[in-house]
Amino acid sequence: MSEATLEFHIPEGINYECTGCGKCCGGWAVPMTDEDYGRISEVDWAARSPKFTGKNLFRPLKGYEKKGTPYTHAIKEGDDGRCPFLVDNLCFIHSQFQSETKPSICQLFPYCFNETPSGVYATVSFVSMGVVHNSGKALAEQRDYLLKKFKDFQALFPDHHPNWTKLELTGGKPISWDQYLGIEQEIITCLQKHNLPMENRFQQASKYLLSCLKNADGGQANGAGGVAAAASSAASETAGGSAVPSSAGSGTAQLKPLDNHLLMMLHSMYFPTKILAPGEGNFNVMRFIKQIMFKGMSARLRIALPGQSYTLDELAKVEWCGAEADVEDLIYRYFFSRIFAKLYFGAGFGQLTLITGFHHLALLYALVKLQSKALALSRSVNKVSYIDVVAAVRQLEKRLGETSVDGYAAAALELLMFSPSRVERVLSSV
Ligand code: SF4
Repeated sequence: MSEATLEFHIPEGINYECTGCGKCCGGWAVPMTDEDYGRISEVDWAARSPKFTGKNLFRPLKGYEKKGTPYTHAIKEGDDGRCPFLVDNLCFIHSQFQSETKPSICQLFPYCFNETPSGVYATVSFVSMGVVHNSGKALAEQRDYLLKKFKDFQALFPDHHPNWTKLELTGGKPISWDQYLGIEQEIITCLQKHNLPMENRFQQASKYLLSCLKNADGGQANGAGGVAAAASSAASETAGGSAVPSSAGSGTAQLKPLDNHLLMMLHSMYFPTKILAPGEGNFNVMRFIKQIMFKGMSARLRIALPGQSYTLDELAKVEWCGAEADVEDLIYRYFFSRIFAKLYFGAGFGQLTLITGFHHLALLYALVKLQSKALALSRSVNKVSYIDVVAAVRQLEKRLGETSVDGYAAAALELLMFSPSRVERVLSSV
């Protein structure tokens, strides 16, 4: 796509500037391309600061770590889990030279780009505290800078051309990209009903997707009329938000054993209690089946943090704070950003079909609530606060960026997450 023909889309309502907190520079071994490694490793860092004396700062990546990536080396994490170049919350490489000397991934962070049939969609990673707090100028006002970052992205990932040719509402129900864009608009309209609890917004959007499917089953799957009619029918069903009862945190009795296991599996994937090796946290069908065989279908869901875990009944007693303005805004921006950037289905996430991809997002919202409640309990308080939600969203975002879903896993997710009743049960139980 040349710059002249590039359709470049920037989300509204999302701001970013670096707050200089240094929190993005920890918890990962920063990967480097061969060029990054050559440029950064040739500097005599010990001559610039005694803190680097005798330190082995870099390591080559193992075969499985670099597979499918442009990286060859990594900066070794310090004993405190942070990048050793983080000095007084500032990047020492940047302070000694310039931004262009830093590893390519650090120069790009937190910007993300997704190439689609209707152009490139830009967004930002919610691992960044600047993004979480919506600090600084709107992304829409940073267009030239974003275009420059997109060029950096293309240079780093020249083969990144996601394959959107297999676009399905659910298995065997293809839709066109234009139909998808119409559906996405309706999903975002549901998500923007700020007067409703987030659970209801997800349920309304799920209901809308199902109405699109019913319409397609009526013989209009490939016609614009099918989706348009579904949109109009769902819009009238959900007008004013009355079609779906408010269901936030109404109890835990409704969860079925398979719901329970699915949530346990997803929680251990996205909120692990230990640092996972590359690939260890990917959705793995065999691990899922073994878990059911090992723990049995009757196992009760426990949400684990390092050193402790809680049952759903214990978490149900913790007050959620979703109506508070800063929490509502964070959760809305987070899920809006993933939907806007198409990072939840198709080539944007594991080649999942649209309905499964959206239901996966709805379950992720449920997990953010559960994790936030567990974090509140670990602080011995009975009400979730903004800081708990921030920690949960950042951890989820980080893990989503590291997770991949192969063909077998995607097939299992299709089976497990298509069900709108499962999504409704989960959303009404957390
Ligand atoms: S190299 Fe600099 S920007 Fe990158 S993680 Fe380390 S301190 Fe942060």
